[in-house]
Amino acid sequence: MKDIYDVIILGAGPAGLAAGIYAARAKMSTLIIEKGIPGGLIFTTSEVDNYPGSMDNATGPALSERMKQQAEEFGAEFVTDEIVKMNITEDIKHIDGSMGGPYKSRAVIIATGAVPKTIGAKGEKEHIGQGVSYCATCDGSFYTGLEVFVVGGGDAAVEEAIFLTRFARKVMIVHRRDELRAAKSIQEKGFANEKIEFRFNSIVEEIKGDGVVDSVIFKNTVTGELTEYKADSEDGIVGVFVLIGYTPNTELVKEVVATDASGYIITNERMATNINGVYAAGDIRDKPLRQVVTAVSDGAIAAVEAEKYLENMK
Ligand code: NAP
Repeated sequence: MKDIYDVIILGAGPAGLAAGIYAARAKMSTLIIEKGIPGGLIFTTSEVDNYPGSMDNATGPALSERMKQQAEEFGAEFVTDEIVKMNITEDIKHIDGSMGGPYKSRAVIIATGAVPKTIGAKGEKEHIGQGVSYCATCDGSFYTGLEVFVVGGGDAAVEEAIFLTRFARKVMIVHRRDELRAAKSIQEKGFANEKIEFRFNSIVEEIKGDGVVDSVIFKNTVTGELTEYKADSEDGIVGVFVLIGYTPNTELVKEVVATDASGYIITNERMATNINGVYAAGDIRDKPLRQVVTAVSDGAIAAVEAEKYLENMK
């Protein structure tokens, strides 16, 4: 381990791994800090079929492992640690982990991604993995032949509802308004799917079940009326997929790095934040499309810009 790295990358999702590939290939000493398994959200994705070139059932874990190997082959170092404190406003950035550190560098690329939002309904937390899920691609197959609810009205909710029809016998989209937020093209596919039903002006009030989820109580957002949906007695379980967006992992940097109203880091098109030598890449940025293809693009730009920044420091 070096005393001071040229660049430290926080997070080993597609954005962080792409930044690592570009930074290490440009001969910058590069450390990637990741608290879990490299891959970020794609590690929990069964198929990545919209990333150019990733056909033939390319799985998220396989794609992320290849990205990691590529970064390592160019010389990037990896450490598993959870970041607990950072001082990134000076020329030499200090990062403390729960297990090691301080890790020091001249430039930092923040690529710590975002986590799924919860609805905060009674019984939601207690039933995670027992009927409540935040990832259709990860858990969809567990609901083969069963009924599931999808909470949300955005692109993700409708697209994942369509995906879930491969497994579930019925998918019910629950949306808090009377109009979906999803793009019209995606809505049309949802409305055309015979296995999908819509429950508008509804929120989940409570998720019940001794063990697995066997009942869901909905509240009508217009009338306030409560209704209970009980799992078919032969099924014994009903799935609740919460797909209402993400919260960016900016807890440790939001005091110093500029963020938008939703907490996403604001960068310019060169991925530079408001702090010298600090860049952001991937889902953690304020951006219109959060996909692998945009994450890796951000990572590449951030690494090249960090290289220019280091050149100018000399
Ligand atoms: P999103 O666009 O922010 O939509 C979130 C949905 O969840 C909205 O319909 C929102 O309702 C609802 N919602 C939020 N909080 C809620 C709560 N507490 N209770 C109930 N409902 C709640 O999020 P997303 O669908 O995850 O998409 C995120 C980004 O990824 C978007 O930019 C999207 O375009 C992109 N994306 C793109 C694709 C694609 O291009 N194929 C696929 C997936 C995602 P309201 O409508 O009432 O606010």
